[in-house]
Amino acid sequence: MFRKFEIVSTPNAAARGRADMFWKKNNKFLKAFKKFRKPERKLPGVFENARILDQQGLLKYFSLAGFEYGSWIDNNTRFEFLYGCVVSLLDLRDLTGIKSLGFGLYTIAFGARGKGGRGSAAAHFEPRRHAINLTKEYGLEALAHEYGHLLDHFFGCYIDQDKLSQYLSLGKLNGKISLRVNGLRKGTLRYLMQEVIKAIVFDSKGNVTPYYTRLTKEAKSEYFTASTELFARAFEQWVTYQLKKKGVVNKFLSQPKYEHWMYLSPAHFKKVSPKINALIKAMAVKAK
Ligand SMILES: [Zn+2]
Repeated sequence: MFRKFEIVSTPNAAARGRADMFWKKNNKFLKAFKKFRKPERKLPGVFENARILDQQGLLKYFSLAGFEYGSWIDNNTRFEFLYGCVVSLLDLRDLTGIKSLGFGLYTIAFGARGKGGRGSAAAHFEPRRHAINLTKEYGLEALAHEYGHLLDHFFGCYIDQDKLSQYLSLGKLNGKISLRVNGLRKGTLRYLMQEVIKAIVFDSKGNVTPYYTRLTKEAKSEYFTASTELFARAFEQWVTYQLKKKGVVNKFLSQPKYEHWMYLSPAHFKKVSPKINALIKAMAVKAK
C-alpha cells in the first residue's frame, strides 16, 4: 500500500532536475534553500524521519483535495516540488494557525494547468476548480500569494457569504470601489478584510496612499488594483515578514514576484500588518 505512493526514495534534489536548476540559479537562493532543506530544517513529527513522502498521508494531514503534476514533470522534480510544498505548508500552518489548510476542497497543481510560456503568470488561482496552479518555471516562488487568494476565496465562498462576490475582498473589483460597500457587521470576516483593503488604499487621514496612487498610475492593467490582488500581495509580504521574525527564510513559499513598487513600503506595511493579523486570527477561529 505504502509503496504505491512512493515518489522517489531520496530527499536530495535531482541533479539538473527542474527544481535543482531553479535552486542553483542564484547563490542567494541556494543559501536560503540550505536553510529549509534537511537537516537544517527539521520537520516535525510524522515527517521527521521520512525518506519517502507519502502523498495520501500528506493530503490528509493538510486536508488538501489533491496534488497534481504536469505529465512532463519527472519523478525527481515531483519529489522536490512536494518536499518544498510540505515545508511551506508547515510554515503556513504555523503562521496562520489554520491546521486544515486545504479545507478538504483545494488542490495544488504543479506545472499541470495553464498554458505556460513567456509572459504567462508564474501561478494562478482557479476558483471554479478550487486549485492553486504553480507553473514549472517560476511557480516555486508563488505559493504564499496564491494561498492568499485561497483564503480570500474559501472564507468568502463558504463561511461569510455575500451575493456580491465569492471572495471576501470582492475579487476583481477595484480596491477603492470595494470599500464603498457599507453596512458590514463589525468583526465579520468581510469587515476585517475590508479593514485590510482600507489600510492599503487610504491613510489614517482618509487620503489615498502613495502606494495606491502609484498602482493606478503605473500599473498597466487594472488587475493590479483589484482588491483580491491587493490582499494577495499584502499577504505575501505578511508571510515573509512573519517568517523573518522567526528567523526562517523560505523562498519557495514567498519571493517577491513583482517589481518593488508593486509592494507596500515597510512603513506602509506596518500599518497594514495588524489588520492582516486580525483577519487571519478570525479565520483560524472559524476554521476550527
Ligand atoms: Zn494574484
